[in-house]
Amino acid sequence: MIIPFNKLAPLYEKHKNEYDAAAIEALESGWYILGDKLSSFEGQFADYIGTAHCVGLNSGLDALILALRALGVDAGDEVIVQANTYIATVLGITENGGTPVFVEPDEYHGLNPAKLADAITDKTKAIIAVHLYGQPCDMEPIVEIAGKHGIPLVEDCAQSHGATWKSQKTGTFGTIGCFSFFPTKNLGAFGDAGAIVTDDQEIAEKVRALRNYGSKRKYYNDICGVNSRLDEIQAALLSVRLKYLKETLDERATIADYYLNNIDPSAVTLPSIRSDASHVWHLFVVENDKRDELQQHLSERGIQTQIHYPVPPHLSGAYKNLGFKSGDFPITERLASSVLSLPLYNGMTKDEMDSVCRAVNEFGGMKR
Ligand SMILES: *Cc1c(COP(=O)(O)O)cnc(C)c1O
Repeated sequence: MIIPFNKLAPLYEKHKNEYDAAAIEALESGWYILGDKLSSFEGQFADYIGTAHCVGLNSGLDALILALRALGVDAGDEVIVQANTYIATVLGITENGGTPVFVEPDEYHGLNPAKLADAITDKTKAIIAVHLYGQPCDMEPIVEIAGKHGIPLVEDCAQSHGATWKSQKTGTFGTIGCFSFFPTKNLGAFGDAGAIVTDDQEIAEKVRALRNYGSKRKYYNDICGVNSRLDEIQAALLSVRLKYLKETLDERATIADYYLNNIDPSAVTLPSIRSDASHVWHLFVVENDKRDELQQHLSERGIQTQIHYPVPPHLSGAYKNLGFKSGDFPITERLASSVLSLPLYNGMTKDEMDSVCRAVNEFGGMKR
């Protein structure tokens, strides 16, 4: 039996008729960019998250770039971010000419409030909290530190749709929440898409203008913008996805619970959940110092896994110019060599879950 790392088709097939109808309606409407389908999805997603505004964009990366641009991040400005994030978070900073200031994560892979406080300087223009793998960061102290210094907080929610901290959804703690609807995300489109959410009307209007060449009124361009619009077909499909998001997340939680209850904690370090947080299981990430051997062991048994992420941004070729070296962020670097994401997808069968648990536990047995 081959168990793939991910499978996207079952989610489509489950409500195929509704997706097909939504796409065909968008095709037949004769209106493909910036129309009713987008406005309606934006309204639904803002309601779901609990913000006043949502602005649909091309991707999660664009959401980060335009969020920081709307906050005025520019050359010479510092933006604090946890070092163990996906490179897109960092590109959001550097695409605006800003300088990423990395800090080590806490034990739940989130932004560490104490390290954040130490990293603030008079050049800090924004703080990004990444709710990595689907688990919220430690929001109370983070919000307090940002507030005390008057520095805007941006949340990278690309992996955390619907995750809550003390019952409040991620995306509502900071000035701006950035979402990706990349197909593999928990709320995934059928192509690239993303959005920002905010309560700040001025920021919403600014991002709305930025996504459309910097114009609020056709052919009157007040600022230099880009082309980053979430199209009508994707918006229509995302409305269907959103309608079933709870069902999607509940199923993921069931699979994660199965792993947590059936994987031997002496075989791998299992993910732990903050007492104030709900985890939406974008990824189920275990840790083991013999990670490469574990991955090989699983692969020989037909179980595909992935590593999120093998090279931390500060050591990536993309940021060679920043001059970091191995050893600068030991916690992050150790994670990069010990994390492994197990298969977790909607439509996973009990047999598949069992095989994964058995193979991981077998590795644990072999180690001892
Ligand atoms: C996926 C992801 C992004 C980028 O989203 P895209 O839609 O692929 O551009 C940004 N940050 C994190 C943490 C992500 O997982």
